[in-house]
Amino acid sequence: MRLVVQKYGGSSVANPKRIMNVARRAVQAKRKGNQVIVVVSAMQGETDRLIHLAYQVNPDPSRREMDQMVSTGEQVSVALLAMAIHRLGEKAISMTGFQVGIVTDELHTQAKIVDVLHADRVKKCLREENIVIIAGFQGQTRNHAITTLGRGGSDLTAVAMAKVFGAKVCEIYTDVDGVYTADPRIVPNARKLKEISYETMLEMAALGSKVMHSRSVEVGKIYGVPILVRSSLNHNSGTLITEEKKSMEKEVVSGISLNTQEAKVTIFGVPDRPGVAAKIFKIIADHHINVDMIIQNKTNTKTTDISFTLMKSDLKRSLPVVEKSAEAVKAARVACDEDIAKVSIVGVGMRSHSGVASKMFSALAKERINIEMISTSEIRISCVIRGDEGKKAVRALHQTFRLAKK
Ligand code: ADP
Ligand code: ASP
Ligand code: MG
Repeated sequence: MRLVVQKYGGSSVANPKRIMNVARRAVQAKRKGNQVIVVVSAMQGETDRLIHLAYQVNPDPSRREMDQMVSTGEQVSVALLAMAIHRLGEKAISMTGFQVGIVTDELHTQAKIVDVLHADRVKKCLREENIVIIAGFQGQTRNHAITTLGRGGSDLTAVAMAKVFGAKVCEIYTDVDGVYTADPRIVPNARKLKEISYETMLEMAALGSKVMHSRSVEVGKIYGVPILVRSSLNHNSGTLITEEKKSMEKEVVSGISLNTQEAKVTIFGVPDRPGVAAKIFKIIADHHINVDMIIQNKTNTKTTDISFTLMKSDLKRSLPVVEKSAEAVKAARVACDEDIAKVSIVGVGMRSHSGVASKMFSALAKERINIEMISTSEIRISCVIRGDEGKKAVRALHQTFRLAKK
């Protein structure tokens, strides 16, 4: 019997009507003769609401308690979906990450899945004709503390379940009907991609294209699980995330991403000698703070300024750590800037084409957008610009690289 794994995001289970819609879709898959596992997120807005609540009682909440709390959002939606399916006359059972035995590392709020202990429980429920509904986003440490997988992490739960239970494809249902050349909410004439390589999707997701959680794409790539992104509100064909194909190489730029979730931190007056950067970033890494773009500017013969970006949500807890690292190397001072945006172009064809960077920079210059930081990889170029110019930059680049619907 074929096994189907479907994942529904927060907007797809946002209210009772939407939950009934998901229930009907799951039941439809079951009545076609499939075994069905459904992974769901918390109802739209719920995770944000809980996080906001936490910061009202403590500006620096314990990460363990944060996970204990935010994981409840998914526990509500799985149970509601099970009830909705019962109403349609099918058997369904909901399970938390804990009940499925999804074991993660200890890194609260950003945990990685390392094992799934109770696959047999799920299989038994499937054999007994149940639609099995699994809470996304959550797991447990070996010491039985509840963990979460990072914002948007239900995608990762779904890909992991597809791998563990041997689904041919992991179906991700959301509020758009596929992956577009840019966020269709910013660029109305963005084009839906029929297929996209894991690598391109991974870059786009990591660079801010919220439609997929980046580590879920990475796990899909490692284990060869194709991911199909579709809408929960219609039956359009969607986008398949899969191995790179020859035809994909022709696309110099496949997509544009925008990230407004990062802040820039600058350490001024850093002594310019070997080992200083190593010391700064060792202290930062020891506190599990992820930094992204790093640039160093030599200001005079003796000192340099080092800027880097990190998640805004990490800023509060990071600043004291950065201050400490600055003191450790006798740097002058630390400043931060939350009003930035990072705009990126991504495409595997960039490997074999030149002139892409200059075209990007010219397009931004034409819009009078100042570039503050630049970073590149083989298949992407990112620029940090002022926060309020992000959307304008995306539209300009989308047009320059002719990505719109023909
Ligand atoms: P879910 O709640 O289903 O997980 P998300 O909000 O995480 O949904 O992701 C869907 C959203 O991703 C869309 O509403 C869209 O605004 C945004 N998005 C950003 N970039 C893209 C893109 N390139 N293609 C499609 N959607 C995108
Ligand atoms: N509910 C979590 C979040 O809002 C996980 C998810 O939606 O995938 O980030
Ligand atoms: Mg999501």
